[in-house]
Amino acid sequence: MVRSTRHTDIGDTQVPAPQDWTSLQPGDIVEVIEPGGYSYEARIESKTEQSDILWIRSHGFGTRHLLHNQDGTRLQAGTTPDQPQNRNPPALPGTGSSLPGPAGLSRPQAITPTIWRKHMNTSANSTFNRTPLIAGNWKMNMDHVQGSSLLQHLAEALYEAKHDYARVEVAVFPPFTTLSAVQTLIQDDGLGLVSGGQDLSPFDSGAYTGDVSGQFLARLGCKYVLVGHSERRTIHGETDATVNAKVKATFRHTLTPVLCVGEGLDIRKAGTHIQHTLSQLRAGVDGLTSDQAAGLVVAYEPVWAIGTGEVAGPEDAQEMCGAIRAELAGLFDADVASKTRLLYGGSVKASNAPAMLQAADVDGVLVGGASLDAGEFANIVGFERQMAG
Ligand code: PEP
Repeated sequence: MVRSTRHTDIGDTQVPAPQDWTSLQPGDIVEVIEPGGYSYEARIESKTEQSDILWIRSHGFGTRHLLHNQDGTRLQAGTTPDQPQNRNPPALPGTGSSLPGPAGLSRPQAITPTIWRKHMNTSANSTFNRTPLIAGNWKMNMDHVQGSSLLQHLAEALYEAKHDYARVEVAVFPPFTTLSAVQTLIQDDGLGLVSGGQDLSPFDSGAYTGDVSGQFLARLGCKYVLVGHSERRTIHGETDATVNAKVKATFRHTLTPVLCVGEGLDIRKAGTHIQHTLSQLRAGVDGLTSDQAAGLVVAYEPVWAIGTGEVAGPEDAQEMCGAIRAELAGLFDADVASKTRLLYGGSVKASNAPAMLQAADVDGVLVGGASLDAGEFANIVGFERQMAG
Protein backbone atom coordinates (compact mmCIF):
# COMPACT_ATOMS: atom_id res chain seq x y z
CA MET A 1 0.00 0.00 0.00
CA VAL A 2 1.87 3.02 -1.24
CA ARG A 3 0.31 6.37 -0.71
CA SER A 4 2.36 8.24 -3.21
CA THR A 5 4.66 6.99 -5.88
CA ARG A 6 6.71 8.41 -8.64
CA HIS A 7 7.37 6.35 -11.68
CA THR A 8 9.47 6.62 -14.74
CA ASP A 9 9.52 4.52 -17.85
CA ILE A 10 12.76 2.71 -18.30
CA GLY A 11 11.69 1.19 -21.59
CA ASP A 12 14.32 -1.38 -22.44
CA THR A 13 18.04 -1.65 -22.06
CA GLN A 14 18.62 0.94 -24.82
CA VAL A 15 16.72 3.68 -23.02
CA PRO A 16 18.60 5.95 -20.60
CA ALA A 17 17.92 5.41 -16.93
CA PRO A 18 15.29 7.62 -15.27
CA GLN A 19 16.51 10.93 -13.96
CA ASP A 20 15.76 10.21 -10.34
CA TRP A 21 17.35 6.80 -10.45
CA THR A 22 20.57 8.23 -9.00
CA SER A 23 18.67 9.36 -5.88
CA LEU A 24 18.05 5.77 -4.78
CA GLN A 25 19.81 4.77 -1.62
CA PRO A 26 20.56 1.38 -0.06
CA GLY A 27 17.53 0.27 1.91
CA ASP A 28 15.05 1.91 -0.48
CA ILE A 29 12.30 -0.31 -1.80
CA VAL A 30 11.44 0.00 -5.47
CA GLU A 31 8.68 -1.56 -7.45
CA VAL A 32 9.55 -3.11 -10.78
CA ILE A 33 6.88 -3.84 -13.33
CA GLU A 34 7.98 -6.14 -16.09
CA PRO A 35 6.40 -6.44 -19.54
CA GLY A 36 3.13 -8.29 -19.10
CA GLY A 37 2.38 -6.32 -15.99
CA TYR A 38 3.97 -8.56 -13.36
CA SER A 39 5.34 -6.42 -10.62
CA TYR A 40 7.41 -7.02 -7.59
CA GLU A 41 9.34 -5.17 -4.97
CA ALA A 42 13.10 -5.11 -4.74
CA ARG A 43 15.36 -3.70 -2.08
CA ILE A 44 18.36 -1.57 -2.99
CA GLU A 45 21.25 -3.46 -1.47
CA SER A 46 24.25 -1.39 -2.49
CA LYS A 47 25.29 1.41 -4.80
CA THR A 48 28.57 2.47 -6.41
CA GLU A 49 29.93 5.99 -6.81
CA GLN A 50 28.89 5.74 -10.44
CA SER A 51 25.37 4.97 -9.17
CA ASP A 52 25.34 1.38 -10.32
CA ILE A 53 22.92 -0.26 -7.94
CA LEU A 54 22.40 -3.81 -6.90
CA TRP A 55 18.85 -4.55 -5.95
CA ILE A 56 17.54 -7.70 -4.47
CA ARG A 57 14.17 -9.18 -4.95
CA SER A 58 13.16 -11.90 -2.54
CA HIS A 59 10.41 -14.28 -3.45
CA GLY A 60 8.92 -17.32 -1.81
CA PHE A 61 11.76 -19.68 -2.48
CA GLY A 62 14.81 -17.62 -3.29
CA THR A 63 16.13 -14.28 -4.38
CA ARG A 64 17.06 -12.58 -7.60
CA HIS A 65 19.90 -10.13 -7.75
CA LEU A 66 19.54 -7.38 -10.28
CA LEU A 67 22.15 -4.89 -11.34
CA HIS A 68 20.96 -1.57 -12.72
CA ASN A 69 23.16 0.98 -14.46
CA GLN A 70 22.90 3.30 -17.44
CA ASP A 71 22.76 0.27 -19.74
CA GLY A 72 19.61 -1.07 -18.16
CA THR A 73 18.82 -3.81 -15.68
CA ARG A 74 20.32 -7.27 -15.68
CA LEU A 75 19.64 -10.37 -13.70
CA GLN A 76 22.92 -11.18 -12.02
CA ALA A 77 22.03 -14.35 -10.22
CA GLY A 78 18.85 -16.32 -9.94
CA THR A 79 18.24 -18.83 -7.20
CA THR A 80 15.81 -21.63 -6.71
CA PRO A 81 15.34 -23.92 -3.73
CA ASP A 82 17.30 -26.53 -5.65
CA GLN A 83 20.30 -24.26 -5.99
CA PRO A 84 21.08 -23.11 -2.46
CA GLN A 85 24.65 -22.42 -3.50
CA ASN A 86 23.34 -19.56 -5.63
CA ARG A 87 21.79 -17.68 -2.75
CA ASN A 88 24.61 -15.12 -2.39
CA PRO A 89 24.81 -12.25 -4.83
CA PRO A 90 27.95 -11.42 -6.78
CA ALA A 91 30.28 -8.68 -5.58
CA LEU A 92 29.23 -5.41 -7.18
CA PRO A 93 32.16 -4.04 -9.20
CA GLY A 94 33.70 -0.96 -7.67
CA THR A 95 31.72 -1.06 -4.42
CA GLY A 96 34.16 -2.85 -2.24
CA SER A 97 30.97 -4.66 -1.30
CA SER A 98 31.55 -7.60 0.95
CA LEU A 99 28.76 -9.48 -0.77
CA PRO A 100 30.35 -12.79 -1.71
CA GLY A 101 30.07 -14.13 -5.23
CA PRO A 102 28.12 -17.34 -5.59
CA ALA A 103 29.42 -20.55 -6.94
CA GLY A 104 27.69 -21.44 -10.21
CA LEU A 105 26.06 -18.14 -11.12
CA SER A 106 23.21 -18.41 -13.52
CA ARG A 107 24.08 -16.70 -16.80
CA PRO A 108 23.25 -12.99 -16.69
CA GLN A 109 20.21 -12.24 -18.79
CA ALA A 110 18.56 -8.98 -19.63
CA ILE A 111 15.25 -8.16 -18.03
CA THR A 112 13.39 -5.11 -19.17
CA PRO A 113 11.30 -3.46 -16.51
CA THR A 114 8.93 -0.99 -18.06
CA ILE A 115 7.90 0.96 -15.00
CA TRP A 116 9.99 1.71 -12.02
CA ARG A 117 8.84 3.51 -8.99
CA LYS A 118 10.22 4.19 -5.61
CA HIS A 119 8.12 3.40 -2.59
CA MET A 120 7.54 6.26 -0.25
CA ASN A 121 7.22 5.68 3.46
CA THR A 122 3.78 5.79 5.00
CA SER A 123 3.25 8.99 6.87
CA ALA A 124 0.54 9.70 9.42
CA ASN A 125 -1.01 12.55 7.44
CA SER A 126 -1.11 11.12 3.96
CA THR A 127 -4.16 9.65 2.32
CA PHE A 128 -4.69 6.24 0.80
CA ASN A 129 -5.42 5.66 -2.86
CA ARG A 130 -7.93 2.98 -1.83
CA THR A 131 -9.53 2.60 1.62
CA PRO A 132 -7.66 -0.22 3.38
CA LEU A 133 -9.81 -3.14 4.51
CA ILE A 134 -8.81 -5.28 7.48
CA ALA A 135 -11.05 -8.35 7.44
CA GLY A 136 -11.34 -11.05 10.11
CA ASN A 137 -12.54 -14.47 9.01
CA TRP A 138 -13.73 -16.26 12.14
CA LYS A 139 -14.29 -19.48 10.17
CA MET A 140 -16.27 -22.11 12.17
CA ASN A 141 -15.38 -20.53 15.51
CA MET A 142 -17.41 -18.37 17.89
CA ASP A 143 -21.01 -19.28 18.64
CA HIS A 144 -23.30 -16.28 19.12
CA VAL A 145 -22.37 -15.87 22.81
CA GLN A 146 -18.62 -16.16 22.20
CA GLY A 147 -18.88 -13.99 19.10
CA SER A 148 -20.66 -11.19 20.99
CA SER A 149 -17.93 -11.21 23.60
CA LEU A 150 -15.14 -11.17 20.97
CA LEU A 151 -16.80 -8.29 19.14
CA GLN A 152 -17.20 -6.29 22.34
CA HIS A 153 -13.54 -6.77 23.24
CA LEU A 154 -12.50 -5.81 19.72
CA ALA A 155 -14.70 -2.70 19.70
CA GLU A 156 -13.27 -1.67 23.09
CA ALA A 157 -9.69 -2.13 21.93
CA LEU A 158 -10.37 -0.08 18.79
CA TYR A 159 -12.18 2.61 20.82
CA GLU A 160 -9.19 2.91 23.13
CA ALA A 161 -6.88 3.13 20.12
CA LYS A 162 -9.15 5.94 18.76
CA HIS A 163 -9.50 3.98 15.56
CA ASP A 164 -10.79 5.94 12.56
CA TYR A 165 -13.09 3.50 10.73
CA ALA A 166 -13.50 5.87 7.79
CA ARG A 167 -9.76 5.77 7.25
CA VAL A 168 -9.22 2.01 7.70
CA GLU A 169 -12.30 -0.17 7.29
CA VAL A 170 -12.76 -3.13 9.64
CA ALA A 171 -14.94 -6.13 8.79
CA VAL A 172 -15.66 -9.35 10.64
CA PHE A 173 -16.94 -12.55 9.05
CA PRO A 174 -18.67 -14.64 11.77
CA PRO A 175 -20.45 -17.96 11.20
CA PHE A 176 -24.03 -17.57 9.93
CA THR A 177 -25.58 -18.32 13.33
CA THR A 178 -23.48 -15.58 14.97
CA LEU A 179 -24.27 -12.91 12.40
CA SER A 180 -27.50 -11.80 14.02
CA ALA A 181 -25.85 -11.21 17.42
CA VAL A 182 -23.02 -9.32 15.73
CA GLN A 183 -25.46 -7.19 13.79
CA THR A 184 -27.45 -6.36 16.93
CA LEU A 185 -24.28 -5.18 18.69
CA ILE A 186 -23.15 -3.14 15.69
CA GLN A 187 -26.54 -1.44 15.48
CA ASP A 188 -27.31 -0.98 19.16
CA ASP A 189 -23.84 0.17 20.18
CA GLY A 190 -23.29 2.21 17.00
CA LEU A 191 -20.04 0.38 16.22
CA GLY A 192 -18.01 1.43 13.21
CA LEU A 193 -17.29 -2.13 12.14
CA VAL A 194 -19.07 -3.90 9.32
CA SER A 195 -19.91 -7.59 8.94
CA GLY A 196 -19.92 -10.18 6.20
CA GLY A 197 -20.94 -13.76 5.52
CA GLN A 198 -18.40 -16.51 4.96
CA ASP A 199 -20.31 -17.95 2.00
CA LEU A 200 -23.66 -17.68 0.19
CA SER A 201 -25.81 -19.73 -2.15
CA PRO A 202 -25.53 -19.05 -5.86
CA PHE A 203 -29.36 -19.15 -5.81
CA ASP A 204 -31.74 -16.60 -4.35
CA SER A 205 -34.32 -18.91 -2.70
CA GLY A 206 -35.89 -22.34 -2.97
CA ALA A 207 -35.16 -25.99 -2.25
CA TYR A 208 -31.49 -25.70 -1.33
CA THR A 209 -31.37 -27.26 2.11
CA GLY A 210 -28.68 -25.85 4.35
CA ASP A 211 -27.80 -22.98 2.03
CA VAL A 212 -28.04 -19.28 2.86
CA SER A 213 -29.24 -16.71 0.35
CA GLY A 214 -27.50 -13.41 -0.22
CA GLN A 215 -30.88 -11.84 0.50
CA PHE A 216 -30.76 -13.13 4.09
CA LEU A 217 -27.25 -11.76 4.57
CA ALA A 218 -28.27 -8.37 3.21
CA ARG A 219 -31.26 -8.29 5.59
CA LEU A 220 -28.84 -8.94 8.46
CA GLY A 221 -26.92 -5.82 7.49
CA CYS A 222 -23.94 -7.62 5.99
CA LYS A 223 -21.80 -5.55 3.65
CA TYR A 224 -19.47 -8.29 2.39
CA VAL A 225 -19.42 -12.00 1.56
CA LEU A 226 -16.37 -14.22 1.23
CA VAL A 227 -16.60 -16.14 -2.05
CA GLY A 228 -14.37 -19.01 -3.12
CA HIS A 229 -12.33 -19.27 0.07
CA SER A 230 -9.79 -22.07 -0.42
CA GLU A 231 -11.50 -24.10 2.31
CA ARG A 232 -14.74 -23.97 0.31
CA ARG A 233 -12.91 -24.86 -2.88
CA THR A 234 -11.08 -27.84 -1.36
CA ILE A 235 -13.46 -29.18 1.32
CA HIS A 236 -16.70 -28.46 -0.55
CA GLY A 237 -15.36 -28.92 -4.07
CA GLU A 238 -16.40 -25.47 -5.27
CA THR A 239 -15.41 -25.01 -8.89
CA ASP A 240 -14.54 -21.77 -10.64
CA ALA A 241 -18.02 -21.85 -12.21
CA THR A 242 -19.68 -22.10 -8.78
CA VAL A 243 -17.52 -19.28 -7.49
CA ASN A 244 -18.50 -17.11 -10.43
CA ALA A 245 -22.21 -17.85 -9.83
CA LYS A 246 -21.75 -16.87 -6.17
CA VAL A 247 -19.97 -13.64 -7.10
CA LYS A 248 -22.95 -12.73 -9.29
CA ALA A 249 -25.42 -13.69 -6.55
CA THR A 250 -23.55 -11.39 -4.18
CA PHE A 251 -24.01 -8.43 -6.50
CA ARG A 252 -27.70 -9.29 -7.05
CA HIS A 253 -28.22 -8.67 -3.33
CA THR A 254 -26.16 -5.47 -3.21
CA LEU A 255 -23.43 -7.14 -1.21
CA THR A 256 -19.73 -6.89 -2.02
CA PRO A 257 -17.90 -10.11 -2.77
CA VAL A 258 -14.45 -10.77 -1.36
CA LEU A 259 -13.30 -13.14 -4.10
CA CYS A 260 -10.57 -15.44 -2.74
CA VAL A 261 -7.93 -16.77 -5.11
CA GLY A 262 -4.55 -18.39 -4.60
CA GLU A 263 -2.37 -21.38 -5.28
CA GLY A 264 -1.46 -24.52 -3.37
CA LEU A 265 2.09 -25.51 -2.51
CA ASP A 266 2.52 -27.85 -5.48
CA ILE A 267 1.63 -25.06 -7.88
CA ARG A 268 3.89 -22.58 -6.08
CA LYS A 269 6.78 -25.06 -6.31
CA ALA A 270 6.10 -25.62 -9.99
CA GLY A 271 6.36 -21.85 -10.50
CA THR A 272 2.93 -21.56 -12.15
CA HIS A 273 1.27 -19.71 -9.27
CA ILE A 274 0.62 -16.55 -11.24
CA GLN A 275 -1.03 -18.33 -14.16
CA HIS A 276 -3.09 -20.44 -11.72
CA THR A 277 -4.28 -17.50 -9.64
CA LEU A 278 -5.05 -15.30 -12.64
CA SER A 279 -7.05 -18.14 -14.15
CA GLN A 280 -9.16 -18.30 -10.94
CA LEU A 281 -9.52 -14.53 -11.11
CA ARG A 282 -10.67 -14.52 -14.75
CA ALA A 283 -13.25 -17.22 -14.02
CA GLY A 284 -14.45 -15.44 -10.88
CA VAL A 285 -15.07 -12.08 -12.56
CA ASP A 286 -16.46 -13.46 -15.80
CA GLY A 287 -19.53 -11.49 -16.88
CA LEU A 288 -19.16 -8.67 -14.36
CA THR A 289 -19.74 -5.08 -15.36
CA SER A 290 -16.95 -2.53 -14.96
CA ASP A 291 -18.77 -0.97 -12.00
CA GLN A 292 -19.03 -4.34 -10.29
CA ALA A 293 -15.35 -5.11 -10.92
CA ALA A 294 -14.34 -1.72 -9.51
CA GLY A 295 -16.33 -2.41 -6.33
CA LEU A 296 -15.04 -5.95 -5.96
CA VAL A 297 -12.51 -7.00 -3.33
CA VAL A 298 -10.04 -9.74 -4.30
CA ALA A 299 -8.14 -11.61 -1.60
CA TYR A 300 -4.94 -13.32 -2.66
CA GLU A 301 -4.48 -16.21 -0.26
CA PRO A 302 -1.69 -18.65 -1.05
CA VAL A 303 -3.19 -21.87 0.30
CA TRP A 304 0.18 -23.01 1.69
CA ALA A 305 0.19 -19.95 3.95
CA ILE A 306 -3.34 -20.34 5.38
CA GLY A 307 -3.39 -21.49 8.97
CA THR A 308 0.11 -22.94 8.63
CA GLY A 309 2.20 -20.16 10.17
CA GLU A 310 3.98 -19.95 6.80
CA VAL A 311 3.75 -16.37 5.59
CA ALA A 312 4.39 -15.31 2.05
CA GLY A 313 6.81 -12.39 1.88
CA PRO A 314 5.56 -8.90 1.09
CA GLU A 315 7.33 -9.34 -2.25
CA ASP A 316 5.21 -12.42 -2.98
CA ALA A 317 2.04 -10.56 -2.01
CA GLN A 318 3.04 -7.62 -4.19
CA GLU A 319 4.04 -9.80 -7.12
CA MET A 320 0.63 -11.46 -7.15
CA CYS A 321 -1.45 -8.40 -6.33
CA GLY A 322 0.41 -6.45 -9.05
CA ALA A 323 -0.34 -9.24 -11.51
CA ILE A 324 -4.03 -9.30 -10.43
CA ARG A 325 -4.33 -5.55 -10.92
CA ALA A 326 -2.67 -5.76 -14.34
CA GLU A 327 -5.05 -8.58 -15.29
CA LEU A 328 -8.08 -6.54 -14.19
CA ALA A 329 -6.79 -3.63 -16.27
CA GLY A 330 -6.67 -5.94 -19.27
CA LEU A 331 -10.10 -7.48 -18.61
CA PHE A 332 -11.80 -4.16 -17.81
CA ASP A 333 -9.68 -1.02 -17.93
CA ALA A 334 -6.98 0.75 -15.95
CA ASP A 335 -9.49 2.97 -14.14
CA VAL A 336 -11.44 -0.07 -12.91
CA ALA A 337 -8.23 -1.83 -11.88
CA SER A 338 -7.08 1.22 -9.93
CA LYS A 339 -10.27 1.04 -7.82
CA THR A 340 -10.47 -2.70 -7.04
CA ARG A 341 -9.16 -3.44 -3.57
CA LEU A 342 -6.73 -6.33 -3.23
CA LEU A 343 -6.07 -8.09 0.06
CA TYR A 344 -3.39 -10.51 1.15
CA GLY A 345 -4.33 -13.43 3.42
CA GLY A 346 -2.31 -16.21 4.99
CA SER A 347 -1.01 -16.31 8.59
CA VAL A 348 -1.22 -12.53 8.97
CA LYS A 349 -0.36 -11.29 12.46
CA ALA A 350 0.25 -7.87 13.99
CA SER A 351 3.98 -8.41 13.49
CA ASN A 352 3.86 -9.02 9.73
CA ALA A 353 0.81 -6.98 8.69
CA PRO A 354 2.59 -3.60 8.35
CA ALA A 355 5.15 -4.99 5.90
CA MET A 356 2.37 -6.55 3.82
CA LEU A 357 0.38 -3.34 3.84
CA GLN A 358 3.32 -1.34 2.60
CA ALA A 359 3.28 -3.21 -0.71
CA ALA A 360 2.00 -0.97 -3.49
CA ASP A 361 -0.95 -3.11 -4.57
CA VAL A 362 -1.93 -4.61 -1.21
CA ASP A 363 -4.96 -2.72 0.11
CA GLY A 364 -5.70 -4.79 3.16
CA VAL A 365 -5.45 -8.17 4.79
CA LEU A 366 -7.78 -11.12 5.32
CA VAL A 367 -6.98 -12.59 8.72
CA GLY A 368 -8.05 -16.01 9.99
CA GLY A 369 -6.57 -17.29 13.26
CA ALA A 370 -5.32 -13.93 14.52
CA SER A 371 -8.80 -12.39 14.17
CA LEU A 372 -10.00 -14.58 17.05
CA ASP A 373 -7.82 -12.61 19.46
CA ALA A 374 -9.32 -9.14 19.94
CA GLY A 375 -6.04 -7.52 20.99
CA GLU A 376 -4.02 -9.04 18.17
CA PHE A 377 -6.64 -8.15 15.56
CA ALA A 378 -6.90 -4.60 16.92
CA ASN A 379 -3.13 -4.29 16.53
CA ILE A 380 -3.39 -5.45 12.92
CA VAL A 381 -6.09 -2.82 12.35
CA GLY A 382 -3.70 -0.27 13.86
CA PHE A 383 -0.91 -1.19 11.45
CA GLU A 384 -0.16 2.47 10.78
CA ARG A 385 1.08 2.97 14.35
CA GLN A 386 3.69 0.30 13.79
CA MET A 387 4.74 1.89 10.51
CA ALA A 388 5.18 5.23 12.23
CA GLY A 389 7.04 3.69 15.14
C1 PEP B 1 -8.11 -17.28 6.12
O1 PEP B 1 -8.85 -18.04 6.70
O2 PEP B 1 -8.54 -16.66 5.15
C2 PEP B 1 -6.74 -17.11 6.61
C3 PEP B 1 -5.95 -16.33 5.95
O3 PEP B 1 -6.39 -17.80 7.75
P1 PEP B 1 -5.04 -17.60 8.63
O4 PEP B 1 -4.86 -16.12 8.84
O5 PEP B 1 -5.30 -18.35 9.89
O6 PEP B 1 -3.90 -18.17 7.83
